[in-house]
Amino acid sequence: MVIKVGIGYDVHALVEGRPLILGGVEIPYDRGLLGHSDADVLIHAIMDSLLGALALGDIGAHFPDHDPRYRGISSIQAQGYRIGNMDSIIVAERPKLAPFIPQMRVNLARVMNLDETRVSVKATTTERLGFAGREEGIAAQAIVSLESFGG
Ligand SMILES: [Zn+2]
Repeated sequence: MVIKVGIGYDVHALVEGRPLILGGVEIPYDRGLLGHSDADVLIHAIMDSLLGALALGDIGAHFPDHDPRYRGISSIQAQGYRIGNMDSIIVAERPKLAPFIPQMRVNLARVMNLDETRVSVKATTTERLGFAGREEGIAAQAIVSLESFGG
């Protein structure tokens, strides 16, 4: 079996007048992420990790509108790989994300066709340091493993 891994990273600015959507979950907050569509920074980081594992560039190259949604999943399967597991970190000073992480894992496991035990979402702050600490934006990092199948 061939194993490949990929990493992804994304940042969006926090602005007023936008919903905050992370991992497909709308989170009650007075600000949201700026960008096309829902600007779901976690989904974008995951998509970049999937593309990276196959050395296919980044979502900017594939989806110029920066709204990849989950379309990249089919390209992974078309190349003879399936996702082994995914781990991720959301970097946000506020709001507290722990109550919403279980639903994010449910959403992500469904779209990636994985058991939830293979889908990890964590959240951290930067102790008020940097753009995330100043609440100017939210970042997300993701790493995935892909396993070859079908010989
Ligand atoms: Zn993005």
